[in-house]
Amino acid sequence: MTLLMTERFTGNFTQQDPIPEEAIAAAVEVMRHGRLHRYNLAGDEAGETALLEQEFAAWVGAKYCLAVASGGYALATALRAVGVGPGDKVLTNAFTLAPVPGAIASVGAEPVFVGVTEALTIDLEDLEAKLAQAKVLMLSHMRGHLCDMDRLMRLCDAAGVTVIEDCAHTMGAAWNGVASGRHGRIGCYSCQTYKHMNSGEGGLLITDDAEVAARAIMLSGSYMLYSRHLAAPAPEVFERVKYETPNISGRMDNLRAAILRPQLRDLDAQVARWNERYHVLEEGLRDTPGLTLVARPEAERYVGSSIQFLLLDWAPEAVQAVLARCAARGVELKWFGGAEPVAFTSRYDSWRYAPEQHLPESDRILAGIIDMRVPLTFSLEDCALIACIIRAEVSAVWQGAA
Ligand SMILES: *Cc1c(COP(=O)(O)O)cnc(C)c1O
Repeated sequence: MTLLMTERFTGNFTQQDPIPEEAIAAAVEVMRHGRLHRYNLAGDEAGETALLEQEFAAWVGAKYCLAVASGGYALATALRAVGVGPGDKVLTNAFTLAPVPGAIASVGAEPVFVGVTEALTIDLEDLEAKLAQAKVLMLSHMRGHLCDMDRLMRLCDAAGVTVIEDCAHTMGAAWNGVASGRHGRIGCYSCQTYKHMNSGEGGLLITDDAEVAARAIMLSGSYMLYSRHLAAPAPEVFERVKYETPNISGRMDNLRAAILRPQLRDLDAQVARWNERYHVLEEGLRDTPGLTLVARPEAERYVGSSIQFLLLDWAPEAVQAVLARCAARGVELKWFGGAEPVAFTSRYDSWRYAPEQHLPESDRILAGIIDMRVPLTFSLEDCALIACIIRAEVSAVWQGAA
């Protein structure tokens, strides 16, 4: 491809696909009948929310599923459901987004940060060294990168540490054929606009543990209406927890569920579209001097809804020059090395409600992580152009610095 050095990209990095027509029709139907609350059902109607839970559980292969108000709410509910409370320590990734340590803080617990490797996954050596400090690991599959989940589960099982998976970026991903969210005790997903299904806000929680499921359902605000769920344990399980589980309302409503059900049917096809775009970007960036691509392991099935690369050991001014030059050509890159939190991007040292922690090896990697969203509104040609622009600007700065 020959390009003018000044060619600009004019697409919008935050513009997602429209909601499918079938989903719009389903949402209009819910508004017409007016029964938006999930427990407001006519006759033997199942309700959109209960059906979504049943369909999502089947799709991911879980026994139980609960739909809630957001991904962050699902994470906090998961912590409560396994008994995390004030003063407890919870292991989590140093490289993640603010809702993850925020969920830990929301139950009065303290995050203990575990480092990140050059593969952008949790550092299993660092995890092993810290396992004795906590009973729970909230594992964030940040930006869709899965660590060796078999090894992680062996380590955590041996130490008696319960794993909660944050699958906000891995809905549709798998390790060694096992879906992300199905390795730990609980898997949590987000249906916020920038994730893999879009209801504006929304979250899903899955588990095979009957008691955890019953507690999560009651926590979400089921009152004593839990028998209206279709992906829930038997009533006797609720009998054991119903007096001791507080109602902390965070239900999903039928309108959002109606929008999500048709998207779930399309999800596998959407994943394929994301990965086509990811591959064009990856190939376009390959062998750029100074730029390190993140290798994807054979065992990982991923969803390329975003792409990361490293400008490892670059001077901050040089990284900033790349960001500015790409931005001038319409390519929006995010940098995890920035000193101040910006937009959605922040670093563990910005979460000052957590005890101060130092992870020098992770700081080196975070300082080099560049991140870019890949919305499905980009064509394959768009992705090729974006890769050309990044390649040209990284090369220009790299050569200037050499
Ligand atoms: C978006 C996100 C969440 C939380 O999802 P919300 O639905 O926005 O609350 C959790 N973890 C990560 C890594 C996310 O990107």
